[in-house]
Amino acid sequence: MSDLRTVGQAVLEELARHLDDSTEGKTTAVGYGTIGEVSARLNLDRWLSGQAMSVPDLLDFVRDYCDLSASYWHPGYMAHQIAAPELPGVAADMVLAMTNNISLTYELAPAGTAIDRAVCGWLTSKAGWSDTGTATLTHGGSLGNLIVMVAARSRAQPGSWRSGVTGRPVIMAPQTSHYSIRKAAAVMGIGQDCVVGLETDSLGRIDVAKLPAAIKAARDRGGQPFALVANGCATATGLYDRIGEIGELCAAQGIWMHVDGAHGSAALLSPRLRSRLDGLHLASSLTWDAHKMLRISGLCTGVMLRHAADLDTLFRQDASYLFQDDAVDVDMGQRTFETSKPPLGLKLLLTLAITGEGGLRRYIETRFDMAQALWRMIGERDDFSVPYQPESNVLCFRYLPAGDRQLEIAERLRQDGRFYLSSVKVDGAVHLRVSLMSPNTTEETLASLLDTIAELAGRLDEGR
Ligand SMILES: *Cc1c(COP(=O)(O)O)cnc(C)c1O
Repeated sequence: MSDLRTVGQAVLEELARHLDDSTEGKTTAVGYGTIGEVSARLNLDRWLSGQAMSVPDLLDFVRDYCDLSASYWHPGYMAHQIAAPELPGVAADMVLAMTNNISLTYELAPAGTAIDRAVCGWLTSKAGWSDTGTATLTHGGSLGNLIVMVAARSRAQPGSWRSGVTGRPVIMAPQTSHYSIRKAAAVMGIGQDCVVGLETDSLGRIDVAKLPAAIKAARDRGGQPFALVANGCATATGLYDRIGEIGELCAAQGIWMHVDGAHGSAALLSPRLRSRLDGLHLASSLTWDAHKMLRISGLCTGVMLRHAADLDTLFRQDASYLFQDDAVDVDMGQRTFETSKPPLGLKLLLTLAITGEGGLRRYIETRFDMAQALWRMIGERDDFSVPYQPESNVLCFRYLPAGDRQLEIAERLRQDGRFYLSSVKVDGAVHLRVSLMSPNTTEETLASLLDTIAELAGRLDEGR
């Protein structure tokens, strides 16, 4: 087991075979079985009891692991918004794993720090904030949203970092905002109940006309609305809030607008799609998960702030054994919650260097277009309904003959193995939901999805 080269190459060969097989749809879209069955097949008891694992054992284990996982390259994989990593990001992962540097201070990771800074500069420029802004990298949109909420709180109450909040800070967000916003409020000690649900249309988009009254009502109740979260786009539906109009209102009211673009910021890379984020120049912050639409493994999230000062001083702690005052502008450790964090920017850097912005743009555009194609196909059938035209690569729909049994369809599909999709409530009703992430999903796949749903739904009562 000690020879990195031979073992590494053998593992890589196994992974490449899995990639080829799932690209061609020869694997299932996701492994299926009870947790007992899965644990048994992986021999977990044996390996935990300290049995020596040989190289052939390891390869068998990797194969089983792949078979029992969700495969994001599989054409029928349409469940959650996670990337099918491309070669550049995977190569970066190998480098990160072996070097295991942490970009806490410059001296701990000179290459990693330089790369993180450069990638943060790229992200800031994509947000359009190069003149005034800055960015940091963190492990996931959830943590990114927390960092932003803390920054917004610190702007509204500069003393809160040291002595906690005063009064009743309020975050305004639609019910459709990601639950990490409510988690952030709880973690920050201001409580989930401080997140005031904004009124929305039936598809969960912020009702802009009702916004001034909502802000006034919050203030009348003694609250201090310090941040408003707009979806760009919403996780469940893939629909974008009207960021420009909301931003103007927030600017007039002195409220920090955060655009949660964990998924939907990808539109910024396409001249054809970027208008979905029109008005972003009015936002104070943006989160962007590169592990969603930018083809790299988790986690790598860009947190962009329009005003550099909002981040520059936020996490400055008295750790003189680590940070020298004059190094403030270089060290990444000053800019996030984590400590032993790898230089995540390497994954994005290699993706930009090898796949290129053009390659990413083509992927993003074809995935968004694929959702339009599905929407048109559904429109041509009378056994399906779809509540909206998609604005991203996420779309929700219902198979009408199945009535209130949409969840059972999703389950049957998963069991069958050719497709894996999710489900979500839209306007009070459970819908099937696709998030078209696999680079290998084609219009033929989608046509086959609709036929397969009809076929499996016809057999829902069999085997009961
Ligand atoms: C995925 C997502 C998140 C959470 O990001 P993680 O990287 O999974 O922590 C937050 N907001 C939105 C809108 C998302 O789509």
